[in-house]
Amino acid sequence: KTVLLTGGTGFIGRRLTEALLGRGDRVTVLTRDPSRAQSKLPRGATAAAWDPAHEGPWLDEIGRASAVVHLAGENVAQRWTDESRRVIVASRVESTRLVVEGIRRAEKKPEVFVCASAVGYYGPRSPDEALDERGSRGDGFLADVVERWEAEAAKAEALGVRTVMLRIGVVLGEGGGALERMILPFKMFAGGPIAPGTQVIAWVHAEDVVGLALLALDDTRARGPINVVSPEPATSKELASAIGHVMRRPAWFTTPKVAIEVALGREAAMVVTTGQRVVPRRAEELGYVFQYPSLVPALASILKP
Ligand code: NDP
Repeated sequence: KTVLLTGGTGFIGRRLTEALLGRGDRVTVLTRDPSRAQSKLPRGATAAAWDPAHEGPWLDEIGRASAVVHLAGENVAQRWTDESRRVIVASRVESTRLVVEGIRRAEKKPEVFVCASAVGYYGPRSPDEALDERGSRGDGFLADVVERWEAEAAKAEALGVRTVMLRIGVVLGEGGGALERMILPFKMFAGGPIAPGTQVIAWVHAEDVVGLALLALDDTRARGPINVVSPEPATSKELASAIGHVMRRPAWFTTPKVAIEVALGREAAMVVTTGQRVVPRRAEELGYVFQYPSLVPALASILKP
């Protein structure tokens, strides 16, 4: 395939780029800063400039690709001010609208469009409610962003391009992401769950994010939303115990809600003090075999004692 990838310099994108190149695909990464990107990208990937807020010559790249993957987006793990909310929304909804506009204009359309999305779609939910892809939209800012993001992506389907939205969970991987923030207190022997501890975290190993992105690209049955989560979601308490076990550190110290609220503000703090039990129904229907279905082996592949 000839893959055009946005967000290829990111936590997930770098791994996907490597996997695509490894199997012989050609990869062009659209980035805001090609000279900086080249040093982050695996050898063999081409970096090209784009402006995710404006139309430009980059739109023409879309007509040269057989597959388009859109992962770019401002990090949501930050205090949500009016300005950061604007950037979080624009970097997803507006950029997706422009990518789809590029698909509309392309004489030769890509075979497939894969767009990142997030389990934030389901909002804060009860720990007992198992949510597959038919689950309803939840409440709050993130659910609203995700709904609008997916709605823009879905317009590619109306142009006759098979479109997949990857509703990604909390990605566990080396060198960044949520886990890097979570393990800091463990290193200082002060690790533990985040209050209340019963909230369910729909985690997924980074290698399975790559695996499911490849499935979305290759399997013509894949279409619409796919939950990119492991089959064994864990409570915050279970996750903390597993991290403590793998790092051989105590996991007794519950971080109080107020500490998270001070760090992130009330609404963004909800993302970690609440959760949702998301299950990978579509992935399993499509026959995907998880490399890391269980938490302890997943963590052990990433963390050292
Ligand atoms: P990263 O935070 O690593 O960012 C990906 C890339 O997006 C960056 O390398 C950057 O590329 C580009 N980017 C960052 N900010 C902006 C911005 N304001 N405007 C335009 N582009 C921007 O993301 P991940 O790899 O962790 O995630 C990829 C996608 O998956 C995201 O859309 C994210 O929301 C989603 N996701 C991730 C989860 C996770 O746990 N990691 C969980 C759920 C969803 P450059 O600097 O080269 O332009």
